[in-house]
Amino acid sequence: MAENKPVVRLSHIKKSFGDAEVLKDISLEVNPGEVVAIIGPSGGGKSTLLRCATLLETFDAGELSYGDLEVATMQNGKAVYGKKDVLRAAKSRFGLVFQNYNLFPHYTVLKNIMDAPIAVQKRDKADVERQARELIAKMGLDGNEGKVPCELSGGQQQRVSIARALCLNPDIVFFDEPTSALDPELTAEVLKVIKQLAAEHMTMVIVTHEMSFARDVADRIVFMDGGVIVEEGPAEQVINNPQHDRTKAFLNRYD
Ligand code: ADP
Ligand code: MG
Repeated sequence: MAENKPVVRLSHIKKSFGDAEVLKDISLEVNPGEVVAIIGPSGGGKSTLLRCATLLETFDAGELSYGDLEVATMQNGKAVYGKKDVLRAAKSRFGLVFQNYNLFPHYTVLKNIMDAPIAVQKRDKADVERQARELIAKMGLDGNEGKVPCELSGGQQQRVSIARALCLNPDIVFFDEPTSALDPELTAEVLKVIKQLAAEHMTMVIVTHEMSFARDVADRIVFMDGGVIVEEGPAEQVINNPQHDRTKAFLNRYD
């Protein structure tokens, strides 16, 4: 990855579902080591933005690149995606952690983590296993290698899903409401590992409703509502001194 380029760059992204324009000219760049939190009301387009960034969804207009890899460019007002090999390379640059873990229910913890690096990235099995075991330890999951997801708590499952994302050696990890399905106690253990990753300067984009977590962990906060970025800035500033009425109204609900 080129050092001087943003890890990911989304430029003037537009996305409609039928007549509904869900992303209206969204631009967002994330630099190496930066942690960006995306906050905002339900239906504002946060998940759609992450799905567009991670190629789970195509967008209509705009540009997307990962480092020097141009995934989609604008041609005659439309987004045109790169060839298969470009898309495949891009998919190795990011990890993704969902609200509902999305683990394979019949795979063990170890196999869940090792699957994509071996099957998709074609890496050496012994090498992947070594890394997977290190990540299991790092996520506080020692002793759970051979369990299947339903034998674990929600917090443990989410930590497996974070280990799975990290085992791809991504340049950036996207989180879509990683703690929304969890009780407060389990939420805390997941937020703790994300904080640890932030301290290690992992580049991350985190959609979250945990405002104090966002303020503590994020360098920058982006407030999205109605398919636009209404306001963004340093985390402290957006949380403690929001400028826009819509941001103020949203944050008031969390007091
Ligand atoms: P958020 O994550 O901020 O809650 P979403 O990105 O999930 O927002 O949704 C934004 C809007 O797009 C919502 O109005 C939602 O109903 C709509 N939407 C999301 N996905 C689809 C889809 N696959 N088909 C149609 N509408 C969708
Ligand atoms: Mg969402």
